[in-house]
Amino acid sequence: MEKREQLYEGKAKKVFATDDPEKVVVSYKDDATAFNGEKKGTIAGKGVINNKMTNHLMQRLEQAGVPTHYVEQLSDTDTVVKKVSIVPLEVIIRNISAGSFAKRYGVEEGIVFDAPTVEFSYKNDDLGDPLLNDTHALALKLATKEEIQQIKDYAFRVNELLKGFMKEIGIDLVDFKLEFGRLSDGTIVLADEISPDTCRLWDEKTHEKLDKDRFRRDLGGVEDAYQEVMRRLTGDK
Ligand code: UDP
Repeated sequence: MEKREQLYEGKAKKVFATDDPEKVVVSYKDDATAFNGEKKGTIAGKGVINNKMTNHLMQRLEQAGVPTHYVEQLSDTDTVVKKVSIVPLEVIIRNISAGSFAKRYGVEEGIVFDAPTVEFSYKNDDLGDPLLNDTHALALKLATKEEIQQIKDYAFRVNELLKGFMKEIGIDLVDFKLEFGRLSDGTIVLADEISPDTCRLWDEKTHEKLDKDRFRRDLGGVEDAYQEVMRRLTGDK
């Protein structure tokens, strides 16, 4: 597959055209941002880890029946994916209180919910990704009613699967963010990435944070934590 002109550069990834109009190449960067781009830095080796971890998880989800944009890994940092138009919603699923949930509702982190929660935010950097509900998303024509239902169904299924994959390796899946896209025929597929940048992952015994909160909160050992999750997932001892 030929990598052609750059189409887009985001905070953590670049996207390139290919010789196939239905496919693009995603290239993962080491750049990290937090708090809506206010905090910037680089995490050495992050691009490679997030590329490999996303591909590993997307393949397992696909095998379990969740359609994804994954096609094939090209190199340590680059992956061919199906071209989609991204539904401009960040879909956040939570199993345990943390981050903005704990802050917004004035509760401590670490409360285990009886059932997972879902929330949407509007993917719009200028507005700071404001929270919205289904009726707002419909009013803004960000997605149809059917698409929103499909997205929620997939998101909860992904949660059950991911929770299981993480539990097998001694990690509690606290919360995570997903993005979905539409293929040229309108089919909804899971897109973007699934990595310690987009999930909160706590060691089930020590409760050590193995995710981007190490960067957000200047806890140190960011790269080691990402590497540790990858090592456990792939079983390299
Ligand atoms: N998240 C993300 N991108 C965003 C916002 C959130 O990947 O733009 C992830 C975040 O890493 C966490 C989950 O979504 O795993 C919930 O994040 P939260 O709403 O608590 O916001 P935060 O505390 O990260 O600002």
